Amino acid sequence: MDIKAQVKTALETILKCPVSQATNEQIYHALLTHIRNQIAGRKQEVANRKVYYISSEFLIGKLLSNNLINLSLYDHTRDMLAENGKNLTEIENLEPEPSLGNGGLGRLAACFLDSIATLDIPGDGISLKYQYGLFRQKFKANSQFEEPNPWLEGFDWLRKTDTTYTVEFGGFSVNSRLYEIDVIGYHNNRVNKLCLFDVETLDPSIVKDGINFDKNEIAKNLTLFLYPDDSDEAGHLLRIYQQYFMVANGVNYILDEIKNNGIALSELHKHAIIQINDTHPTLVIPELIRQLVARGMKLDDAIEIVKNTTAYTNHTILAEALEKWPLHYLEKVVPHLIDIIKYLDKQVRDKYNDLSVAVIDDSGRVHMAHIAIHYGFSVNGVAALHTEILKNSELNHFYKIYPEKFNNKTNGITFRRWLQETNPELTDYISELITRKFKDDATELEKLLPFKDDAKVLDTLATIKHTKKKQFAEFIKGWQGIEVNPDSIFDVQIKRIHEYKRQQMNMLYIIHKYLEVKAGKLPTRPITFVFGGKAAPAYIIAKHVIHTILCLQEIINNDPEANKYLQVVYVENYNVSVAERLIPAADISEQISLASKEASGTGNMKFMLNGAVTLGTMDGANVEIAELVGKDNIYTFGKDSDTIIELYRTSGYHSRSYYENSQIIKAAVDFIISPAMLKAGNEEKLNRLHAELLNKDWFMTLIDLEEYIQVKDQVLSDYENQSAWQRKCLINIAKAGFFSSDRTIGEYNRDIWKI
Ligand SMILES: *Cc1c(COP(=O)(O)O)cnc(C)c1O
Repeated sequence: MDIKAQVKTALETILKCPVSQATNEQIYHALLTHIRNQIAGRKQEVANRKVYYISSEFLIGKLLSNNLINLSLYDHTRDMLAENGKNLTEIENLEPEPSLGNGGLGRLAACFLDSIATLDIPGDGISLKYQYGLFRQKFKANSQFEEPNPWLEGFDWLRKTDTTYTVEFGGFSVNSRLYEIDVIGYHNNRVNKLCLFDVETLDPSIVKDGINFDKNEIAKNLTLFLYPDDSDEAGHLLRIYQQYFMVANGVNYILDEIKNNGIALSELHKHAIIQINDTHPTLVIPELIRQLVARGMKLDDAIEIVKNTTAYTNHTILAEALEKWPLHYLEKVVPHLIDIIKYLDKQVRDKYNDLSVAVIDDSGRVHMAHIAIHYGFSVNGVAALHTEILKNSELNHFYKIYPEKFNNKTNGITFRRWLQETNPELTDYISELITRKFKDDATELEKLLPFKDDAKVLDTLATIKHTKKKQFAEFIKGWQGIEVNPDSIFDVQIKRIHEYKRQQMNMLYIIHKYLEVKAGKLPTRPITFVFGGKAAPAYIIAKHVIHTILCLQEIINNDPEANKYLQVVYVENYNVSVAERLIPAADISEQISLASKEASGTGNMKFMLNGAVTLGTMDGANVEIAELVGKDNIYTFGKDSDTIIELYRTSGYHSRSYYENSQIIKAAVDFIISPAMLKAGNEEKLNRLHAELLNKDWFMTLIDLEEYIQVKDQVLSDYENQSAWQRKCLINIAKAGFFSSDRTIGEYNRDIWKI
């Protein structure tokens, strides 16, 4: 029997009726049961050495298609369903998207779990089961509002276990429970786990009025939200409660496994690696020391073992993200860790006598990254440029002490999700051209290069892109009732809203374009400018940027003189499912961060893989993309990272002089407070953003604006030579293999984990 028939029979046995007569909901659940049955026989072996990837975020996305792909059932299932009048995409729409992440860091962790399982490495993810996840974004009156995201309702991949622990805080304790999600390897027999801990006493009813709740009721609020508001002291304390809850459960879980495998604690470092994803899980270090000592080990021995067990990944050089907790906060939340933290601080001070590397600084703040660097054996950055900046400036004092600890692991993405699942049309066409080998080895994509001047191949790529635009147009109509033109150029910037990512610079370009149209200078072809992304609830300027873009959307889309040529689309509640639809439809990938500020980016890689051309600064992994594709196949602009770092050092940037010296900049910036904008929006917000750009502009929007306008106009005009454009797209796809997370995880394992 062929696989299609097998799947059909299996489903009908579960359904007790023909597939054609079942509802989508029934089929969805039958598929879930079928997948569970498929992996039920795969027993997790006792691993001799295992990685624990601990992260406050895992932005995993929906799992149905991903799991079908990894079990090699996707095509067969999709086709069988279609033959029976059913549509797999519609069925998957019933699955809620887990809200366990915020952005690139969380998505990276999810790609890594997929690749760890696929490379047949024993490894589990460790995190929290946030009841309402990150907030859901709603637009009202051209502004962002936040609502709880009740993603657990109807999410059936989560398994409640019997594993419970008690976690002690200062003055009280809570009980936790472990929940698990299976992580299935591609084309192998492995099933790893994502371990999510929850507090047993959680009380979702305390959430009132949007995402507000009593921040002091820890036993009831601990796992309500990812990144709860931390604009006050109670918020800071809650973050520390969450972080400690995550690591205390993680340590219990790891030590249980070690014990069950009959391994002596003195051998821990030979059998377990703890990869610390950013600083949030750093308390795992003192907690692991504490628990080893509690189990009878000498303090100095415990410290040595922990040093050989933990490894730290740095994700950013933005000061705001390198966490420093006041010691008295930690004294309140985790008094039982204080002696250990002070001991670690004393060791460091005795040894190095250098305040810049101290664990506790002279203001009594505990530097989480410093703990992770001193008391782990590896420190890695996430793109070549980022690691160089860490070594040469941001963490230079540490690099001088521990040059051997520093290493680079350029980020990657899983091609199962970001090519096979999001773009089956392109996947099938690539298979036709170069066989299916690229599905097992992404570097095989280079075999596309000989087709770069093949008119028929380039035409087919254009046709696939057009199909993906039409599909997106249908999707966005259902998502928020907007009509877009699939014959326009899709210019896309989707990512968290942050000043360093410079959505505001893109916005000023659109204003400039709009003013040109009003003055009679018309674009050759309609352009659709797409934005997506959430702002942190307490990040005022980021919210003002959203507000301004939404006002611009209202003005341009309702102006009959302009809307034939320009359209602005701000997609509400950007998440993985939106990214999966939008990226394959994009022509231009906007990666325009201020040089030196974006550690890597992974969105850039997803776009490249799906045949979009990057318009970007020489920042993060854009640098590596540029090296791979060559200067003819990427558009770069802007000041380089050395120049920017020097400008910060000398306080040499003054936005107002850029504004005063350029008519174009002045006109675009002043439009923010034009009568039309003030009518569409809120005067106070628009004025504040305008003033911010003129008086502060910490992330230097205006320094690159004129060059950005020039280069972007060049991109649009180059698009008109379609064969030359599609040639660029093909070269981008062919060179994307390097950015497979299978390559990244292979390197982590070769250099750090050694499993
Ligand atoms: C890939 C991804 C990101 C990261 O995007 P960047 O452009 O690298 O910041 C954020 N959110 C979602 C949903 C993603 O899929």
